Amino acid sequence: MKSRPFIIPIFIPNMGCPHRCVFCNQTSITGYRSGRISSEQVRERISAFLNLKTKHRGAREVAFYGGNFFGLPASYRESLLDEAQRFVKQGLVEGIRFSTRPDTVTHDALEALNAYTVCVVEVGAQSMNDTVLSLSRRDHTAEDTTRAIRLLKEHGLKTGIQIMPGLPGDTIESILETGRTVAELNPNLVRIYPTVVVKNTVLEDWYRSGRFRPLSLADAVEMTKSLYHLFDAQAISVIRMGLQATASLSEPGVVVAGPFHPAFGHLVHSAIFLDRAVRELEMQDRPSKRVALHVHPHDVPKLRGLRSNNINKLIQRYHLEELQVLPDPALPENALRVTTLS
Ligand code: SF4
Repeated sequence: MKSRPFIIPIFIPNMGCPHRCVFCNQTSITGYRSGRISSEQVRERISAFLNLKTKHRGAREVAFYGGNFFGLPASYRESLLDEAQRFVKQGLVEGIRFSTRPDTVTHDALEALNAYTVCVVEVGAQSMNDTVLSLSRRDHTAEDTTRAIRLLKEHGLKTGIQIMPGLPGDTIESILETGRTVAELNPNLVRIYPTVVVKNTVLEDWYRSGRFRPLSLADAVEMTKSLYHLFDAQAISVIRMGLQATASLSEPGVVVAGPFHPAFGHLVHSAIFLDRAVRELEMQDRPSKRVALHVHPHDVPKLRGLRSNNINKLIQRYHLEELQVLPDPALPENALRVTTLS
């Protein structure tokens, strides 16, 4: 199995943004204050992360996150890239990645990347529904994302797309339509961040005045599960589901409302395994009250669910007398087999 890249994150909170989108406060999310990060700070941060590296980790990649990278002044952008590229030249880092708004991806900006080892560009699409984008004050359209991904691919770059189910104006249909449209664009990877109300955002005001209602945690897990299946069916990697539980995001009052959970991705994978177990149990010719569920050892926590929730649900649903979860290294990941206990 290919190791996941070892990401060295360099946060540029809200830098290069033409305005503030209604849901966004990168300082609250990342814990980093906005303001120019100097070349020296970039160098120090990369060095500090490299000292953490263990030999089991995958390719080392410097990632500029939390802002609109192509929106930065060209000279400053290049000074950041120069610093990261120095580490690439020394063989200490394998590549560079960054996130950017779709409407800033231009032919000229991409040509300027030729001097650098950029491995992935992640586009913050958030939605592929123009009404949702407008209500979220994104100031770009779905077509901008389509055009950005096409341009990136023409320049031979790997692409990522970030989406945020549950934005203002979103419905189950618009969320799934966003998923289908993104899948058609066929990016290399996707991140799914169900919309959370963060303090000091316009969305917080709208939530407090009753103008915005976020998805419940249960609905967000269900929606994300459907999106995951959509992307998985097209072999598009879903590399993140739910906001990362940074120290700053976990501080009291920073998340005002919405489907934030420190183990959101685990909840989605557990929901997928619950469906799988139900499907397999329903297919039993002669259902038994004493069964064993066999999964790859990596999948045991996903099958059990948080606090063994899935196990309890299955026992209740099928009135089981005994249910064992048995790790089986011979099984591939994401497979599940049912046997009857003697
Ligand atoms: S969502 Fe992206 S473009 Fe909008 S304010 Fe935040 S970092 Fe800037």
